[in-house]
Amino acid sequence: MSVNKSGTVIAAQCNGIYHKPDCLFCVIAQMLKKAMRWIDLRGAALIGGMIATLLLPGGCQTTNSADRKVSAFDELVFGVTETGEGGLTEADPGIRLTRWRVPLRAHFAQPPPGPVAALGDAVLAELAAITGHDLAMAAPGERANVALVYGDAALLVRTLKAMGARIEGYEASSAAYGFCWSTHWHAAGEIRRAVVYIADADVMPDEKPGAVAACLRHEMGHVMGLRFHAERSYSVMAAQRSLRDYTATDRQVLRWLYHPGLPASGARDQVLARLRDLPLDP
Ligand SMILES: [Zn+2]
Repeated sequence: MSVNKSGTVIAAQCNGIYHKPDCLFCVIAQMLKKAMRWIDLRGAALIGGMIATLLLPGGCQTTNSADRKVSAFDELVFGVTETGEGGLTEADPGIRLTRWRVPLRAHFAQPPPGPVAALGDAVLAELAAITGHDLAMAAPGERANVALVYGDAALLVRTLKAMGARIEGYEASSAAYGFCWSTHWHAAGEIRRAVVYIADADVMPDEKPGAVAACLRHEMGHVMGLRFHAERSYSVMAAQRSLRDYTATDRQVLRWLYHPGLPASGARDQVLARLRDLPLDP
């Protein structure tokens, strides 16, 4: 995250699914944290499993599914994650519901290979169908507010400069190492513009079929307002695992995010309280 000179427009940044390799210390610390959580959870999981076996015939599943989706919304939109101890991480007190209000018009800064262009069209169409928001590729001559850059680090830097971003070594190195990356600018709960960098499939460290699709859906998730990552693999927004498609949970969270019933730039508590009244996908 960074704040520009005026202090009003905040850019949320992400280096995508293919994150920059952390320092060895951080990687080990992360692994230890996961191991501890796993050990911690085993006892609770066994007891929970036994209780669930007893309760399942009684039909508690619907509530659980709604709860899980609200938790996913909390994690992806507000960055509040469940801890291993059954609590929640602390919410940023300043955080507000943040989404697009103006039509989103994307363009490729330079024409990409045919399959990537087709993928761009497909992902925008999916997001339009899920959210009901007006988003599409910009028509010729139409002004775009989302720039998509494919596989050209120098072009990414030029595009960012043209959009008024402060360039740091980080952006250029992410691109050079083949990491997907995005940034968006928002103020008063409204996302105004964004840049998405899609690494060339050939230079991605984790190259496999669908890597570009996973990358684009993840970064476009950020652009739409899923500002945070999923700690677990239920979502394309999981930082470690690259799912190729939006999951049922992603779709629910995005549909809720763009529901007109949510208070514009509402605080977390207000928004979560309203979610309970909104329709749940079947
Ligand atoms: Zn990300």
